[in-house]
Amino acid sequence: MNTPENISNTPSVPLEKSDAQWREELTPEEYRVLRQAGTERPYTGEYWDTHTEGVYQCRACGSELFTSKEKFDSHCGWPSFWAPLAEGTVRYLHDRTMGMDRVEVRCATCDSHLGHVFEGEGYGTPTDQRFCINSISLRLVDPDDR
Ligand SMILES: [Zn+2]
Repeated sequence: MNTPENISNTPSVPLEKSDAQWREELTPEEYRVLRQAGTERPYTGEYWDTHTEGVYQCRACGSELFTSKEKFDSHCGWPSFWAPLAEGTVRYLHDRTMGMDRVEVRCATCDSHLGHVFEGEGYGTPTDQRFCINSISLRLVDPDDR
């Protein structure tokens, strides 16, 4: 019983795929990070030091998550953003693994793991947040090629 108004106000339903489908579509390393909440080694990813303008999509589903405008040099070894492209493109989960209390960031569309968000580190960005995202969870695209 959804009216069109209701549908547009409801967050999009996460893209559901079976584990077997994800394994087939992703490389083993992409699968490890995106679907098993792994972390790539710092300073090894494709985008940690990238200044190219463009839009960062989810590597698993293609949703647009971040843009180069919110990317900043955190020197932490992973691509860092001070905000997502828009509210609702990502979702947050408490992550208490590894003896830490962190906030995990996932793609709101396909529920793939992206990284973590940290707050109050004093980077001097507009939000004082650092979305610390794995390069392998992202794909940088030229806005003109979309
Ligand atoms: Zn996604």
